[in-house]
Amino acid sequence: ALTVPDKKVDSVCPYCGVGCQLTYNIKDNKIMYVEGRDGPANHERLCVKGRYGFDYAHHPHRLTKPLIRRADAPKRGDFTMDPDRVMDVFREATWEEALAFAGDTLAQIRDQHGKKSLAGFGSAKGSNEEAYLFQKLVRTGFGSNNVDHCTRLCHASSVAALLEGIGSGAVSNPVMDVMKAEVVIIIGANPTVNHPVAATWIKNAMKNGTKLIVCDPRRSELARTAHRYLQFKPDTDVALLNAMMHVIVSEGLVDQHFIASRTIGFEELERNVAGYSPELMAPICGVDADTIRYVARLYATSKASMILWGMGISQHIHGTDNARCLIALALMTGQIGRPGTGLHPLRGQNNVQGASDAGLIPMMFPDYQHVTDPAVQERFAKAWNLAPGVLDDKPGLTVVEIMHAIKEGKIRGMYIMGENPAMSDPDANHAREALAALDHLVVQDIFLTETAYLADVILPASAFPEKTGSFTNTDRLVQMGRQAIDPPGDAKQDLWIIQQIATRLGLDWSYNHVSEVFDEMRHTMPSIGGITWERLEREHAVTYPCLNEGDPGDPVVFTDTFPRESGRARFVPADIIPADERPDDEYPMVLITGRQLEHWHTGSMTRRTAVLDAIEPDPVALVHPLDLAAMKGKPGDVVTIESRRGKVTLYARADDSSPRGAIFVPFCYYEAAINKLTNSALDPFGKIPEFKYCAIRVALG
Ligand code: SF4
Repeated sequence: ALTVPDKKVDSVCPYCGVGCQLTYNIKDNKIMYVEGRDGPANHERLCVKGRYGFDYAHHPHRLTKPLIRRADAPKRGDFTMDPDRVMDVFREATWEEALAFAGDTLAQIRDQHGKKSLAGFGSAKGSNEEAYLFQKLVRTGFGSNNVDHCTRLCHASSVAALLEGIGSGAVSNPVMDVMKAEVVIIIGANPTVNHPVAATWIKNAMKNGTKLIVCDPRRSELARTAHRYLQFKPDTDVALLNAMMHVIVSEGLVDQHFIASRTIGFEELERNVAGYSPELMAPICGVDADTIRYVARLYATSKASMILWGMGISQHIHGTDNARCLIALALMTGQIGRPGTGLHPLRGQNNVQGASDAGLIPMMFPDYQHVTDPAVQERFAKAWNLAPGVLDDKPGLTVVEIMHAIKEGKIRGMYIMGENPAMSDPDANHAREALAALDHLVVQDIFLTETAYLADVILPASAFPEKTGSFTNTDRLVQMGRQAIDPPGDAKQDLWIIQQIATRLGLDWSYNHVSEVFDEMRHTMPSIGGITWERLEREHAVTYPCLNEGDPGDPVVFTDTFPRESGRARFVPADIIPADERPDDEYPMVLITGRQLEHWHTGSMTRRTAVLDAIEPDPVALVHPLDLAAMKGKPGDVVTIESRRGKVTLYARADDSSPRGAIFVPFCYYEAAINKLTNSALDPFGKIPEFKYCAIRVALG
């Protein structure tokens, strides 16, 4: 018989940026099942992760006591995960001992080697309040801006282009606006897998007559039913997009009034795209000129056209250029600032938008206020009760830069909350060696992740359903996540742990409730200034910008101005820049990494979820059937994939969605950690690594 819950708690899904609202059904402090709620982004819909991905919270691998590395346990950059032998490497400690060791050692490093010798990674899995307190701790306790999180690996290039071009890094329109669009372009994104409930709205829009254009080197499920599918060659985004803009300009399809009244820099862009005719670009990008012309005309002339994109756009060394082209497309056609139009970089993790907003990035204080701006410096010094000039006025290091700085001996101690760079960083062997080389590594997490395994001290934290906090989805919707169950054993809530570390760094904080942190946030972040904790509790979700109490919040922005100094958006032209590492005779194929529907990022949660792990239990490489046949292999065979930086062995799955010569591998499998192979070359603006392209070779066995 179905167990009857003794408690129901309304919250939000812990996985992707769609931000589906759900209800946890609890009995005896255990989640029994989950139901979808009528939230603005999901209207009761949930995907397989939201519906079944909850029992990780009860997994026996949960960390329940603070751990300190045994004096005789060597740190190894590479290792085989064996959570059952954790006590060979670590010993249990009291909270008092672990916090003293963690915090006092960080303070000693700071005092001995200087403020820039420490760095911190927060997490897009944590709440807004956790992100805010963590960055405040790094900025005021460590004393530098060396704070970052996985947005650097996700949409940092999109944000760089958006801030530069239109003055705001967030989306202009919510996903649900696809229902109001005549034409939707999805480029470099696979929503069916990565934003599944969003994909259902896109399918509903198609049923209502919206024309969907999918542009992607990999043929996604949406591509199969799209109005047009443009399978451009990997790494040729700028060629395709500039060719589309060439058509729009040369055929007079631009919105002259919008360009004249709301933008700057069009002449330069016009000159640049003149050299990118569809006929010239077709052989480069692999899409015929007629199709490029057709799609460009369709996008430009529809009453409402919207662009959504994902990491296929952002994770290149030219990721910022890719996003600049998308912004220029929208601006030159006036397809922004109205319902059913605009720009929507689909956010990955459930709180990557909120964590970035809250200042978990090295170049900006909360609400994207530049650390170099003296007025901003003064404002935050006052808000945080600091003497003028105390806050670091130089941008800090980014995720990959921090790994290099460790190897150079510049960073000696780190505090990592809820991130797993040993799995998620490019060139992961290098990242693991760097983490192992730290004098002191403090990791706060719910499992013994690959990163925690390298720590000197591990602080057992709370899982998503074990704490209350706000989370901001891809639509700029601030939503309330509520505590449904208690943390196991001696595990503690993350806000408490951050405050304990802060105390040992000499900070005098006394937040008694998460709402007090939120209240401080809204007084330092104008965009959420009108959202009170009481309103969040009452309404569950409020969209920002919401400047004053009572404001309804703006789902569609840029209706009459852009938040740049001039109020006008800026065109930024882009030229073709090839990938950092092209295939050659030695490494003749291309590696594309990404996610699977059933698993989430580095797999630490979903691989400990019974249903999800049962569906996708083993590491797989998606290989084109003809490539597999050419190496005399068949589906299920073991293959070894190798790049100049590392190799992994995993199972081949025949899949013709990628073009021949391109292999797709999810990055969630620790036993075949594909980021050992990826290239850490960075986009110069967003500092995002090139996860979507590096040279590999593949062999059976
Ligand atoms: Fe969770 Fe995203 Fe699935 Fe919604 S679509 S249930 S937010 S993983």
